[in-house]
Amino acid sequence: MRGRSPAKGAVVIKAVLFDLDDTLLRLNLTAFIARYVAGAARLLGEAARMSPAALAVPFMRSFLAIDAQDRSDSLTNEQLFNQTFFSACGIPLDDPVIHDLVDCYEREVVPGLSGGIVDARPVEGAREAIEAVHAAGLTCALATNPTFSLACDRARMAWAGVGTDDFALVSTYSNSTRCKPSVRYYQEFANQLGVRLEECLMVGNDARRDIVRPDCGLRTAYVGHGRPRGAVWRGPMSDLARELPQIAARLDEADA
Ligand SMILES: [Mg+2]
Repeated sequence: MRGRSPAKGAVVIKAVLFDLDDTLLRLNLTAFIARYVAGAARLLGEAARMSPAALAVPFMRSFLAIDAQDRSDSLTNEQLFNQTFFSACGIPLDDPVIHDLVDCYEREVVPGLSGGIVDARPVEGAREAIEAVHAAGLTCALATNPTFSLACDRARMAWAGVGTDDFALVSTYSNSTRCKPSVRYYQEFANQLGVRLEECLMVGNDARRDIVRPDCGLRTAYVGHGRPRGAVWRGPMSDLARELPQIAARLDEADA
C-alpha cells in the first residue's frame, strides 16, 4: 500500500519517463564526462589564460555540488554549477561571451565525441519502446539526470537515435533544481509535464537514481543488470516495447 488517498477515482498511468544514459543510450559515461571536461577545460583555459589541468577540479567540484542530495538552495542546477565553478577558479560561465563559447563547443564539438572509448550507440529496443509509448497514447518524456545543458542532452540523444520531437519534455540542468534520485527533481519534472508522480512510469537502468522512495508514488520499470527491490517490472529494453501496454494496464488495475 502506498501512502496516498485515491480520492478522485483510480490513478492511471499517463506518462512514461525515460532515463537516457544506459537506458536508451549505451555508452561509457565516465569516459564521456572525462572527454567533455577535457575539451571544455582546453577551451576555457585558453580564453582565461589558465592551465586546462587547473580546471579539472573546478569541474568536478561543480558536478558534485549539483549532485549533492542534502542541498537546501533553490537555484537551478545550472546556476549552482556556475556559482561553484566561479568560486573555484574565477571563470564566470554565465558571462555572455563565455556562455557562447561553451554553447558553441557543446553544439559543434560534443556531437563528435561518441567514438573510441566512449563507444556510444542506441540500446536495442529503445526506439521501439518510445514508439510503444506514443502508440499507447501516453506522454513520453526524457528524464535524464539533469547535469548537462540541452545541447549536451541533444548530442547524446542523437547517438541514441532519438530527438527532442520524441519527447514532451527533456530535463536539463537549466530546468531542474536537483539531481536524481531527489524526489524534488522528479516532482518538478512531473509538474512541468502537468501530471502527478503516481501517474508516471519511470524507465531506467540505475537502481539508486531511477528508483525513488515508494511513498512518493513514482514507479519504475528497471532495465539494468541488477535485481533491485522496488521496481514494478524488470527486463531488457527490447521486452519493454512489447509488454508496455500490459504493464500500464496492470498498474492501472492495481490502483483501481
Ligand atoms: Mg542511466
